[in-house]
Amino acid sequence: MTAPLIDPFQRAISYLRISVTDRCDFRCLYCMSEQMTFLPKSELLTLEELDRLCSTFVGLGVRKLRVTGGEPLVRRNIMDFFRAMSRHLDSGALEELTLTTNGSQLAKYAADLAACGVRRINVSLDTLDDAKFAHITRWGRLSQVLEGIAAAKAAGLRVKINTVALKGFNEDELFRLLDWCAGEGHDLTFIEVMPMGETGDRLDQYWPLTDLRRRLGERFSLIPLTERTGGPARYVQVSETGQKIGFITPLTHNFCESCNRVRLTCTGELYMCLGQEDRADLRAPLREGADLEDAIRAAILHKPKGHDFDYSRQNTGQMPRHMSHTGG
Ligand code: SAM
Ligand code: SF4
Repeated sequence: MTAPLIDPFQRAISYLRISVTDRCDFRCLYCMSEQMTFLPKSELLTLEELDRLCSTFVGLGVRKLRVTGGEPLVRRNIMDFFRAMSRHLDSGALEELTLTTNGSQLAKYAADLAACGVRRINVSLDTLDDAKFAHITRWGRLSQVLEGIAAAKAAGLRVKINTVALKGFNEDELFRLLDWCAGEGHDLTFIEVMPMGETGDRLDQYWPLTDLRRRLGERFSLIPLTERTGGPARYVQVSETGQKIGFITPLTHNFCESCNRVRLTCTGELYMCLGQEDRADLRAPLREGADLEDAIRAAILHKPKGHDFDYSRQNTGQMPRHMSHTGG
């Protein structure tokens, strides 16, 4: 049997996130600038190359694949990739195939995703107000995303809404978002805005989840859940409604000690941590016909202990890379 991927801190790597494109049909204020320079198509891994790399990871014990971006559903022929990966679900080698999306293309693809064995998806949604949605995404339309989410639900996909907590922007929608998710049967996770990429002054937007959670606690009894996904999210249950709420708090807490994941960019760079620069080029060994397993094992030996995100420092604790590069 092949030895599993174990990093220098004895963490087993069982989760791969794959950014299949750096492009997007939105320009969220905290994620991208309006004028983005995207990679030339020749730099991107082809879907066949992505298949070979991901399949090698699955052979090395990766049990969960999350497809992300940029916006994964704007990559041309992306369903071919989902169909290819579904063979690992059929064989039992893979436990979960999923994606994180802005929802704009879900009306078109939800049924195909379900047919490929996708069971749960994350959809990013920061507001339920048309004008605020148009503002925060610059180019997005709320109605299109809500139609997409409805299509996902109709196709039997379980939806988790990811909401970036933004001071002065969606503070007043906390309970509206909660109620809407409860009514629709969607899970909900809040995310602290992270200092990534040059998009403006994010310090203004940072709304610590400690404060958000305190406000929830003023209205509801929150029961902390022990459930762990190996990821940074921590969950509570609202005892009055049974609703489950997640918190991703890279700034106020960090949970790097249980990190089980690595991230592949659309150009074949493997990032060992979202908040560090340690990375390995897997495209060269892939294209040169070198041993991919060796290249991956060597890369995993460089997984750092954790990130250093911090708003309080002047020049450190920030990451110049955009979130859309490594897929969030
Ligand atoms: N386009 C897809 C989407 O929006 O879901 C997938 C890629 S997007 C980069 C993945 C997630 O990262 C989204 O939930 C988005 O809100 C989040 N994100 C982007 N920039 C962020 C930042 N600076 N801090 C925290 N979350 C961020
Ligand atoms: Fe696009 Fe997602 Fe970034 Fe928004 S958060 S600009 S939808 S990649």
